[in-house]
Amino acid sequence: MNDSKYNATIVGKIQVTPDLIILTVSTDEPRTEFAAGQYTTLGLYGYEPRSVNSEPEGVPSKPEKLIQRAYSIASARTETRRLEFYISQVKSGQLTPRLFQRNMGDRIYVGKRIVGVFRLADAPPDSDVVMIATGTGITPYVSFLRSHIMERPNSKMVVIQGATHQWDLGYFSELSFLNNTFPNFYYLPTLTDADATWPGHRLWIEEMLNSGVLEQETGVAIDPDKTHFFLCGNPNMIKSVSGCLIEHGYQKKTRKTPGTLYVEEF
Ligand SMILES: Cc1cc2nc3c(=O)[nH]c(=O)nc-3n(C[C@H](O)[C@H](O)[C@H](O)COP(=O)(O)OP(=O)(O)OC[C@H]3O[C@@H](n4cnc5c(N)ncnc54)[C@H](O)[C@@H]3O)c2cc1C
Repeated sequence: MNDSKYNATIVGKIQVTPDLIILTVSTDEPRTEFAAGQYTTLGLYGYEPRSVNSEPEGVPSKPEKLIQRAYSIASARTETRRLEFYISQVKSGQLTPRLFQRNMGDRIYVGKRIVGVFRLADAPPDSDVVMIATGTGITPYVSFLRSHIMERPNSKMVVIQGATHQWDLGYFSELSFLNNTFPNFYYLPTLTDADATWPGHRLWIEEMLNSGVLEQETGVAIDPDKTHFFLCGNPNMIKSVSGCLIEHGYQKKTRKTPGTLYVEEF
């Protein structure tokens, strides 16, 4: 079998739910230091086996082709050799069922370049920052916080994480720990279909912004001159929450235009 492009080894695999894993890889060669929030590619050949809880592929893969997809990095920006990824299985997808079947010690391809413009570094150190995520969209924020929380004591930093059930809240423990440790960090998870034991919010993200919950609980204003908003995850959430922020005067930042609304769609 042609496995010549594999250039990293899987050194950690946490099964968060049947369809969510945290995968850590050790690359044979270190990557260059990256900006928190950036992404690289992971790849496996089409001949690799698929997970037992996947479905037939929508588009059949060619056995000798290296299937590559983009994944945000959860690690701190200085971790140039050990990279962590948070991955959701698309059951009929080409790559994710193969990633889910990989185990500790297995080989994998990791892109040589780390790229992307969804970076905390673009928000000035004293500005307040609100990071909104659904699903695996939480990943770049884990990197933001692991890389920069100590360097931004004068910035209020808020994570709003929307999910259906409590078990879908990846990195809940780490974010709760930061919430209890740093007075300038606020973690606001919100569930749309929580059971009776859930003590937290049960609001849609747009409701949290429009009903004043964000301002009441954190003191952070929805004001494009003061607060930078980051949105990452599901395209429907991004469309709807962007619309809400644009009504508050926000402009989307692009490579060519300035703005304090940053968007990354998965
Ligand atoms: C910049 C960037 C960063 C990304 N970071 C992450 C990350 O950190 N974690 C992560 O899990 N994914 C991430 N993705 C998505 C990832 O690149 C793949 O698209 C995803 O894992 C599906 O790959 P696949 O080969 O299994 O499915 P494919 O064979 O590529 O897709 C099959 C079908 O499923 C649809 N689909 C794609 N993604 C999803 C989804 N999440 N849910 C439902 N349907 C979907 C596609 O539209 C397509 O029609 C990122 C994408 C981009 C562009």
